[in-house]
Amino acid sequence: MEVLYNSTRSKGKPIKASEAILKGLSDDGGLFVPDSIPALDKSLKELSEMTYGQVAYEVMKLYLSDFTEDELKSCIAKAYDEKFDTEEIAPMVKAGGAYYLELFHGPTIAFKDMALSILPHLLTTSAKKNHVENEIVILTATSGDTGKAALAGFADVEGTRIVVFYPKNGVSPIQEKQMVTQKGRNTYVVGIHGNFDDAQTGVKQIFGDKELAAYMNEKGFQFSSANSINIGRLVPQIVYYVYSYVKLLKEERISEGEKINVVVPTGNFGNILAAFYAKQMGLPIDKLICASNENKVLFDFFRTGTYDRNREFVLTSSPSMDILISSNLERLIYRIAGNDPDQNKELMAALVSGGVYTITEEMKVQLQDFYGNYADEAQTAQTIHDLYDNTGYVIDTHTAVAACVYRKYQEETGDCKQTIIASTASPYKFTRSVMNAIDSKYDAMGDFELADELARISGVCVPRAIEEIKKAPVLHDRVCEKSEMKQVVMDFLGI
Ligand SMILES: *Cc1c(COP(=O)(O)O)cnc(C)c1O
Repeated sequence: MEVLYNSTRSKGKPIKASEAILKGLSDDGGLFVPDSIPALDKSLKELSEMTYGQVAYEVMKLYLSDFTEDELKSCIAKAYDEKFDTEEIAPMVKAGGAYYLELFHGPTIAFKDMALSILPHLLTTSAKKNHVENEIVILTATSGDTGKAALAGFADVEGTRIVVFYPKNGVSPIQEKQMVTQKGRNTYVVGIHGNFDDAQTGVKQIFGDKELAAYMNEKGFQFSSANSINIGRLVPQIVYYVYSYVKLLKEERISEGEKINVVVPTGNFGNILAAFYAKQMGLPIDKLICASNENKVLFDFFRTGTYDRNREFVLTSSPSMDILISSNLERLIYRIAGNDPDQNKELMAALVSGGVYTITEEMKVQLQDFYGNYADEAQTAQTIHDLYDNTGYVIDTHTAVAACVYRKYQEETGDCKQTIIASTASPYKFTRSVMNAIDSKYDAMGDFELADELARISGVCVPRAIEEIKKAPVLHDRVCEKSEMKQVVMDFLGI
């Protein structure tokens, strides 16, 4: 059955998956959603005999129904290869009574790699299918992590170029080093004098520049974006929930049909939404446990039904979850509004104008699959400390937020179903916070020295991604003013 995509904000003509991937965002500002969520068409038993790539095909083919078998299999093969440091792609570790699903074995040691290693291939395939002959130019503003994952994904992908802008003095030294050492003929990394918002605003202006778009088209280029609302990033994230469930089944840790809980450290609501889609497809998931840090907008939303971004923005040790507007939540709102674009649009307009909206009681009862809670900074550190003390397993700060919330959930409910915790970053990505949580004596050590110490105490080798940037030469040193961003892009394209 063909799945088509609608905007969450208006009833137009539904479009094919490849068109939705190419467009990213709908013209009316809405997000694309499948017109119905497909059911798994292989049994869990059959899936349990498959590799990660094979499961990826069985899940993704249901959503990307205008891709041919060859097209999709080729995208999957190019994405999940030796770029990952384990053949399993997403292995699981049991520690402290839960299964940690390690989504950080890709090139940048964080979970964005799971989707960003396949998005470039989905995008170029979509371009071909729709007879787009222009080269695709990805333009991204980053506060650190997404930029590097996008660079790694798009590097040397035929038919694409990527330009990443970052705030020159607004990312960590390791994040900057990761980006400016990026290889690839088609990559370009530029620091700007300004903060992340300036970079973001500049990129939005370039995207909105109709004159520039026409000129680019004349020269054989068009812009696209790699941000997390693209359906081409959401769909690949459903795969690992299916894969991890059937793996527990294969290892006889659960029986067929047994319900499990899933805990997800959440920011933009993309990862947990993928778990929700997996559940709708028939995967036996009971509760979707949404874990926030001190920016606990989602916790308040699940408790009260009011989403309110009017609050202080807190910088935490889990920066990838420091978000006050969880963009992907819109897809859930649309669904609980009975797939009604008008009602959704009204709520989203309220969010833009006043920063707040409240859902109806009728909508609220449909959120029973979800449980929300949060962890403050001290609790997050304590969780890392205690898990290490009790088991020797070391988790990063984002994962620790999830582990802490899981403990709160268990204390509140006594629910002891088998549980998977999405582990979204390697502890080597946030070494300083992690090591300080384990013991304050590490405070005085340098960053790379700390990584060696982490290897010693955890017994997990320093990942390639960290080893490489130690010695890698700087390949990008351009810095520009906010006002020069458009010119910088044109220079890079040679137009
Ligand atoms: C992006 C990110 C998250 C949040 O994921 P969302 O899909 O935005 O909810 C959590 N942890 C890490 C390490 C991330 O990079």
